[in-house]
Formats: sequence, structure tokens, C-alpha cells
Amino acid sequence: MSAHFGSLQAALREGLPVSTLRVVIPIPSPITVAIAATVERYPVHRIYCVGRNYAEHVQEMGGDVERTPPVFFTKPADAVLADGADFPYPPRSQDVQPEVELVIAIGQGGANIAVDAALSHIYGYAIGNDWTRRDLQTTAKRGGAPWDLAKGFDHSAAVGAIYPVGSIGHPCRGLIRLEVNGVERQRGDLSAMIWSVPAIIAELSTYVTLVPGDLIFTGTPAGVTSVVPGDQIECHIEGLGTLSSRVVERQ
Ligand code: MN
Repeated sequence: MSAHFGSLQAALREGLPVSTLRVVIPIPSPITVAIAATVERYPVHRIYCVGRNYAEHVQEMGGDVERTPPVFFTKPADAVLADGADFPYPPRSQDVQPEVELVIAIGQGGANIAVDAALSHIYGYAIGNDWTRRDLQTTAKRGGAPWDLAKGFDHSAAVGAIYPVGSIGHPCRGLIRLEVNGVERQRGDLSAMIWSVPAIIAELSTYVTLVPGDLIFTGTPAGVTSVVPGDQIECHIEGLGTLSSRVVERQ
């Protein structure tokens, strides 16, 4: 039992029960997302996000639809915010914006996944909200700097209940919209994605080996807007219910 394991995952691969690990700090709690209409949970491994995937949103952000390929970025798994939970307004920002997005939940991993095989790697879908410190992102873009702290901060990945493919299939069209205090701000259709769900999985899997538990946020339609503490955010995607968050002052 003297083996040194580089990570919890490495230890688990060796078949060592977690309870026998001699850890020096408490093992972080697993991050999970609800499965719709059951008590079961989906364990989250990593969170990938696609930027610039709806033409009208690319244009409102000042981008060039023709020349700009979608970009990938990430959020920490523990940025997950459950449906109905308060969203604490993050520090170091004066301009925070929600982005409603279709989220893919990977059920079967793989690298270099073919487009026509991609759908078989999906466990299900959920509504997501890619919370963004827009002022930090704008500064980062200007300086050619990473987006990490503009996108990957505490509570920045709101995710609603996951609907398994077995119950809802693969939504490739349908209304996607976001309301702030009952007023519609974002509105689009899933069919307007520049990169489709299979294309996103195929492309991302050429950069990293996807594993079960990976979530992929697929980009947001036009209409992004800033919010303040007290605002009530409601995200809707046809067939996937709703995702609600209330913006609160941070503690
Ligand atoms: Mn986004």
C-alpha cells in the first residue's frame, strides 16, 4: 500500500477503494447534476464550452461569422450551479451576463469520434447557463489573454436537469430563450447553431479524449444582456423544461 497515486482517478483505476486512501485533506465531494423525473444523478467530470456558435450572437459581439471558427473553453466541474439555486454576483466584475445554452452530457467517451457516430456518445441533454464576466472577457480578448476567469468562476455553470436521450431523443431544433424578470432577452432556435451537436463532439474529441461525465455547453443565441442582484433568470429550451436562477449579492 505504499504506491503513490497522482490522483484519485489514478487510484480508482488501480481498483483501490476510496475508503482506503490515506489523504491529507478531505476528498472533494462529487459534483452531480439531477436526472429529470428520477432520483438518479449524473456525475460531472469536466465542463467544455463552445463560443461563437450562433451567427447573430457572433455579430452582436463584434465577431466575423465567416472567418471566425468556434472556440472551446472550459469551466471547473465545481462551477456547477443547480436549478433553482441562487447565483451570487461574482467579485471583480461590473458586467455579468447569463447565456442560455443547450448542454450535452457525454455518456460514452472517445477520441477522434466520427461525426456520424457522435450521437451514440451522448447520455442526454440539459439547459445550461454560461455565466460570464463580460468586462473581464472583453479585456482578455483585447489583450489576447485567456478567458479563464471571465468564464470559469464559482457558480458560473448553471445546469438544469438532464433529460436522457432515451426519453427525449436528440433535440436539433426548437426554441431556446432566456428571460430576465419575465422579459425575454435571448431568443433563438437550436437549428441555427453554426456547429451542430455531432460536429462539436467530433471536433472537440480531436483535441481531448472525451469521457463519461463530460458536459459540453454548445453556445448561446443573440440577445445577451447584463444583470444585477435581485434579477430572476429563467432559461427555456423546448422539451428540456426550465432552468431558474436568482442573482443575489455575494456574501
Ligand atoms: Mn457561452
